[in-house]
Amino acid sequence: MSTEAIPKKAGLLDRLERGPVICAEGYLFELERRGYLQAGAFVPEVVLEHPELVAQLHHEFVHAGSDVVEAFTYYAHREKLRIIGKEHLLETINRQALKTARTVADEGDSLLAGNVCNTNLFEPTDAARATVREMFEEQVGWAVDAGVDFVIGETYSFAEEALIATEVIKSAGLPAVITLAFHQLDVTREEWTPAEACKRIEDAGADVVGLNCIRGPETMLPMLRSVREAVTGHVAALPVPYRTTEAQPSMQSLRDPDYDAFPDGRPFPTALDPFTCNRYEIADFARAAHELGVNYLGVCCGAAPHHIRSMAEALGRTPPASRYTADMSKHVFLGTDSTLKQQNLGYARDL
Ligand SMILES: [Zn+2]
Repeated sequence: MSTEAIPKKAGLLDRLERGPVICAEGYLFELERRGYLQAGAFVPEVVLEHPELVAQLHHEFVHAGSDVVEAFTYYAHREKLRIIGKEHLLETINRQALKTARTVADEGDSLLAGNVCNTNLFEPTDAARATVREMFEEQVGWAVDAGVDFVIGETYSFAEEALIATEVIKSAGLPAVITLAFHQLDVTREEWTPAEACKRIEDAGADVVGLNCIRGPETMLPMLRSVREAVTGHVAALPVPYRTTEAQPSMQSLRDPDYDAFPDGRPFPTALDPFTCNRYEIADFARAAHELGVNYLGVCCGAAPHHIRSMAEALGRTPPASRYTADMSKHVFLGTDSTLKQQNLGYARDL
């Protein structure tokens, strides 16, 4: 029997020292689009009902270039389960999500991340602070049991809630990636700027700080510049792949002038399709953010594997999915290959 030691995977912080790390997200939106998760409550019951489909999406994101398998515990917290009357499933759903992610991470070189997020219960009172802390402690505890490499705390609009998540994750002895979500305003709900909030979170011990969700590439980039200048450690950026603008800075504020018959008067969250960034726009974002000094990159709600592959390739990677990256040279109408039938070439180009 070989006594050779199994080489240990490099951890998150080692990898960040060597180069950018990619983390694919957006599980809620993608599994909703696939018909296995209900928009509205947005509770990931699919984790229990179809763990094989969650594993499949983990696989697709890793194939496309994600370095991280993020356990799908986003919104698998006490408050979200309460709203669908299934609080009794809290521990089961968390442990199953972690187990599914563990299986995929163990198949290759991916890192396994636990996840906590906005509880929707935070307010600046001692009672709310205690409730939120308990919610983080129970979820982080299950993540520790599953042997995660690090924990992501994300989508906080109250920086103070993010600070509590940081404390809980660091108390568990794990690296913490903490990201804030900015909605219509360029400040947190306490009215701290992104730079000020991220600096405070870094000072509280977070290993990576930055922004995720809500904002598309165009309205997240300017904030990243200020965050990069304010902190000394690693910076994260995981925008939504939607074309937000200065006038419509968040995905909730996007409007479609050609179609306004939405059931609730807005495209968010089930009709954002016409605003979706293509793969080249995501590549542009990845390059621009990386040039700013952002080294933990991903795509949040709305992400699909082609976005992740494009991001990976923009950062100089060739993930397994690059085997199928577009090559138009053999396209019947647009190609340049000399064996293509000349009669077809240029046909579609001129239409
Ligand atoms: Zn998101």
